[in-house]
Amino acid sequence: MESVTARPAPRPTDDSAVYWNAIARHELVAQRCDGCSTLRHPPRPMCPHCRSLEWCEQRLAGTGSLYSYAVLHHPRSPAFDYPVLVALVDLDEGIRIVTNLVDIESRDIRIGMRLRVAFEATSDGAAVPVFGPDPNDTVPA
Ligand SMILES: [Zn+2]
Repeated sequence: MESVTARPAPRPTDDSAVYWNAIARHELVAQRCDGCSTLRHPPRPMCPHCRSLEWCEQRLAGTGSLYSYAVLHHPRSPAFDYPVLVALVDLDEGIRIVTNLVDIESRDIRIGMRLRVAFEATSDGAAVPVFGPDPNDTVPA
């Protein structure tokens, strides 16, 4: 079923603009600390490990595995199709991201399943990262 209203666009902050600009290009990135090389997400000004304020942008593969999820039925917003599948995905680079699952029925979800990023358009011509089953997943169901 098509959504009645376009999904709301992200609202980048000074810290998250690099992340959302990459998403708009359909690239998934994270901050890598210049002081200790630790990847971090969500974007923030300071490294939680070494307190460095210096960082660079690192492109990520966009693959990972399902850590946990929730099936949301309420409260409903016209911008989403229900149920909304909210997931915590452990990316292969070692950081965890909050996202939505797409292209899967809730009964087919399994913890640890391999996932791959996709990009869903929002209002204002922006995009958000979502994850669906990885077509390269060779683990038998
Ligand atoms: Zn650091």
